[in-house]
Amino acid sequence: MQTVYTFGGNAPHEDERQKDKTVTGGKGANLAEMASIGLPVPPGFTITTEESVRYLNEGEDFSDTLRSDVAEALTHVEQTVGKRFGDAGDPLLVSVRSGARVSMPGMMDTVLNLGLNDETVQGLAATSGDKRFAWDSYRRFIQMYSDVVLGLDHGLFEEALEIAKEDRGYFSDTELEADDWEGLVTEFKDIVERELGKPFPQDVNEQLWGAIAAVFDSWDSDRAKVYRRLNSIPAEWGTAVNVQAMVFGNMGDSSATGVAFTRDPSTGERAYYGEWLVNAQGEDVVAGIRTPQYLTKAARENAGAEKPSMEEAMPDAFGELARVFDLLESHYKDMQDIEFTVQQGKLWMLQTRSGKRTAKAALKMAVDMVGEGLIDEETAILRVDPMALDQLLHPTLDPDARRDVLTRGLPASPGAASGKIVLDADTAEEWAKREEAVVLVRVETSPEDIHGMHAAKGILTARGGMTSHAAVVARGMGRPCVSGASGVSINLAERTLRIGDRELTEGDVITLDGASGEVMAGEVPTIEPELAGDFGVLMEWADKHRRMNVRTNAETPADCRTARGFGAEGIGLCRTEHMFFDAGRISAVRAMILADDEAGRRAALERLLPEQRGDFAEIFRTMAGLPCTIRLLDPPLHEFMPTRDEEFEALSDDLGVGVDHLKRRASELHEFNPMLGHRGCRLGITFPEIYEMQARAIFEAACEVTGEGGEPVVPEVMIPLVATKRELAILRALVDRVAEEVFAEKGTTLDYLVGTMIELPRAALMAGEIAEEARFFSFGTNDLTQTALGVSRDDASRFLGEYVDKGIYSRDPFVSLDVDGVGQLVELAVERGLSTRGDIKLGICGEHGGDPESIGFCEEVGLDYVSASPYRVPIARLAAAQAAL
Ligand code: ADP
Ligand code: MG
Ligand code: MG
Repeated sequence: MQTVYTFGGNAPHEDERQKDKTVTGGKGANLAEMASIGLPVPPGFTITTEESVRYLNEGEDFSDTLRSDVAEALTHVEQTVGKRFGDAGDPLLVSVRSGARVSMPGMMDTVLNLGLNDETVQGLAATSGDKRFAWDSYRRFIQMYSDVVLGLDHGLFEEALEIAKEDRGYFSDTELEADDWEGLVTEFKDIVERELGKPFPQDVNEQLWGAIAAVFDSWDSDRAKVYRRLNSIPAEWGTAVNVQAMVFGNMGDSSATGVAFTRDPSTGERAYYGEWLVNAQGEDVVAGIRTPQYLTKAARENAGAEKPSMEEAMPDAFGELARVFDLLESHYKDMQDIEFTVQQGKLWMLQTRSGKRTAKAALKMAVDMVGEGLIDEETAILRVDPMALDQLLHPTLDPDARRDVLTRGLPASPGAASGKIVLDADTAEEWAKREEAVVLVRVETSPEDIHGMHAAKGILTARGGMTSHAAVVARGMGRPCVSGASGVSINLAERTLRIGDRELTEGDVITLDGASGEVMAGEVPTIEPELAGDFGVLMEWADKHRRMNVRTNAETPADCRTARGFGAEGIGLCRTEHMFFDAGRISAVRAMILADDEAGRRAALERLLPEQRGDFAEIFRTMAGLPCTIRLLDPPLHEFMPTRDEEFEALSDDLGVGVDHLKRRASELHEFNPMLGHRGCRLGITFPEIYEMQARAIFEAACEVTGEGGEPVVPEVMIPLVATKRELAILRALVDRVAEEVFAEKGTTLDYLVGTMIELPRAALMAGEIAEEARFFSFGTNDLTQTALGVSRDDASRFLGEYVDKGIYSRDPFVSLDVDGVGQLVELAVERGLSTRGDIKLGICGEHGGDPESIGFCEEVGLDYVSASPYRVPIARLAAAQAAL
């Protein structure tokens, strides 16, 4: 298998494996593709992802094949550029870049200007005729290489640079002259030798292989692991390495570097969008060292900025760039995120990829591109990440609310966030664990901050542009972000900060508006999102292409209304126990539980009946004839038990029974393992009067609402935690009997279904038999996962994270269905259920019903519907359409 692929110059670019991101990584595959369509790409080569996996698995050693293939590929680069690597007179310099299958912003470090040493720096100075440029490049190289490859703290070098500037009375880096940089190079080399006990490597081949090893190793760095876990990227993918001839954006005022998008990644607007810097090298834009300039004249004018746009300062290079933008969009048929460098007036493309975008932009672009004839409806449906819709379904700031604006930054990622200020990532994570809403405020963020960004509701940075680390990562995560708010200054030592002219302390509440860039004091009220427009159009397309129905898990009329607004086509799970917690009812529930005998229970249930009937009637009215699955009481009774003395006293007053008696009764009911104890249908078997009351409430409500006109109600009564056919047979007979009684009393009848949850492995195995009693199955995959894996959902957080890190489960099995294991149980139950009853209705009501990957599985096994919490309904509609395509 070929280990290295060349690109640029006269390289062939024809091999299918070279175009395959799984082999050459996203960056490598796209560099080759750009070169193949004739775009100006500096020549280079890509080492395959397979080699990084081999290297990490086989004791971090390079194979002889790889060594000779790299040498050969390097010759291709040398011949194309017409310079030799390590040549003291006219050296070839390269960058060494990582590139995994999917883009992992900032996860892997790039080394630029590799190939410089004490001799080649002289050659670079001579051939470029620019001594300052040569020494500046060399010091950048030492600094980057020492940080990324040799593992030294980059602060050591920055400190030396600061001191050098102070000594000379300089304010900015641009004031340093050639001799200053040369002096710094000596200092930098001394630092390396002091720290490592050996000199900075002068052998260019040693430099190259050191950098390649560092890229390979970075795949297993802690920050890469965190990113992989958050984004469900398997460890086996590995990363490719790209070695590419350098082009220089730091060769004076006709040189520049920039980052651009072919459309606006925040709004989706069809306008070139990006940032650039004159006389600078790649990382300078992203790292936020200097504040970048606007790309287009329109954007500059819009922002009221002074420094010229690229369109104005370099019209020729900009014209060329615009041509490339259009070419790339029509080639990739998607919005592209581009890195480019202009070396002495000539444009070079260094990267392209499908750009990350906000959910709003994703929707707009998908819908617009169908209109432009660039893509079809199916592609548009597949283009939008269902989970990203989540961003749009949540509230934004109320435009009429008073805003106490402290300062303004760049609108880097939309949405509104309020929370307490936290000044570092660890604190963010800690406070968020205590259920506090926090806003992470940093000078700028780096990959080390990712866990804190994830924990925070929003992110505010003092430095960095629209393409800074904070902005890119926040957009990807769907967190609101305001970046480059220069009105923010932080005093980390005292845990205080200044925003605008206000002094604040960590813990004070602020609000961010990621759409306008405003930072406000206190909490600002929000409003519900607008779901028409592009959202409505895409949802309509999705509905047209999906096979499965989408229902909701809801038990309050408010939730039902929300879910219907989001397009729910019924209720897949109404948990009746949630209604038992209402303030007025809990004492009746407790009276029922703690009653000494059936008579006592019946008396308490009498009090609950009208309340339950009222709940169900409201829900049936709201759902207007759509199917409603109502689950009879499921949780262990101890969940309702009084625990505090006041609660026992209140109950004692209510019932006229002594506190001691109640406490004794409570301790009699104590269970060691309640989740596997007296719960679910076991309650119905032992206390049939509870299920009788619930069934009565359901049928009375159904008759009442049907009697009001409109669509007839068809209740689906669901019996939980069934393991045997006999359990279901007994309870079904009970439900049928109550139905008959109610219909006789009301002098009417209604259609209804009795069915069961499949949430125990035994039930899945016995599904063929159970289906004789069940008109429908609803897969309760939360409990099914819990019981199949033998993992308690409530205790899993202690170890599941590590399980996912170690690849034992690829994702948290409570979030995304364990298709390999639990999936088999589902598949088997579907098969056996259908063979008994060909028209059995099949659905899923666990959390997995709102998880796109699990929804894909539900489509495969042929379920009739998925049921998701109200805010997940649109996600499920889109995911179901994607699964069907
Ligand atoms: P990342 O994946 O973090 O963006 P990259 O490998 O794309 O890392 O490189 C980081 C920066 O270095 C980019 O701005 C890129 O444009 C610049 N760069 C990479 N290779 C070269 C090169 N051969 N010549 C000039 N600049 C380069
Ligand atoms: Mg890049
Ligand atoms: Mg359950």
